[in-house]
Amino acid sequence: MGIGLIEKHTEFLQLIKLHSDISKMEIILKREKQIDNVILSSIINRLKAMNLLGESTSRSLLNHIPLEIFFIEWNMTDNHDLLKLIKIIRMSLEKIILSFGIKKAQRKLSLRQETEAYFYFPFERLGVGYLLIRGQNKVLITAPHAKEPLSDDNIRTIAEKVAIKSKSWALISTISRIYIDYNRLGSRLSPFRRIIEKLALSERKIRMIIDLHGRNQTFEEYDVEIGAMCGFSAKPKALNLLQEVFNRHKIKAGFEEKGYIGGDITQYNGIPPFVNVIQLELSDRIRKRNSKRIISAISEFIAALKF
Ligand SMILES: [Zn+2]
Repeated sequence: MGIGLIEKHTEFLQLIKLHSDISKMEIILKREKQIDNVILSSIINRLKAMNLLGESTSRSLLNHIPLEIFFIEWNMTDNHDLLKLIKIIRMSLEKIILSFGIKKAQRKLSLRQETEAYFYFPFERLGVGYLLIRGQNKVLITAPHAKEPLSDDNIRTIAEKVAIKSKSWALISTISRIYIDYNRLGSRLSPFRRIIEKLALSERKIRMIIDLHGRNQTFEEYDVEIGAMCGFSAKPKALNLLQEVFNRHKIKAGFEEKGYIGGDITQYNGIPPFVNVIQLELSDRIRKRNSKRIISAISEFIAALKF
């Protein structure tokens, strides 16, 4: 076993212990309305130990804890605020733990995983890079690949029509993914991605994000592939409701059957119950020949959501 592998195992074990401490802290805070100092010092010691394990741990934490929580002015004397913050950190740790399994599964399915992100152009040449439609509910439709070349065909029209029909918000890219791919880790600091976090976490305007995509090489057996980070990015209730609505509209949906668990928006922005994210990979057929049906179904799902 190489050093790298030993480090990985130790890191994994430390993460599970840290997660257990934070969970305990959350339960005690909920029950006794105060922070347990013994657990707090144990957490601090674990973080110190993890810091010695090399940079991969700190990179994991950085990759999974939402940036926005550092900009929110939390009231640390308000237990409600404190509990929410602890919950978000606890869930971020769960994402790291889950990501170990996801990487393995993706290798098995030979799905390409994101290793590096590139910027081909400086930010100032990218311009604003998005179109934001303001809605009247707590749902945001995102379409990060809406601009050609290499766009998801017809996705902009579908996103706009769903937003109008359901009075939802919509965030649509106006820059091709060949310049910046808004559904990748490397784009998190872009205005497109920062808006999502701001609307959802700081301003609490959004509770559900529906991230729309389309594969050009179609999987014929499904009209839609639903991705929710193995069920981790959205409440089961919402996923069940979506399945019911699709059934009613005779839309054949698979849940991560082809291995599409969601891109970076799903994986990073989903923190249920506060923020739910569902990725929809729409087949060629449904996007081009049956778009009316998918627009109606998604709008019906939005109308039935209770937030
Ligand atoms: Zn896409």
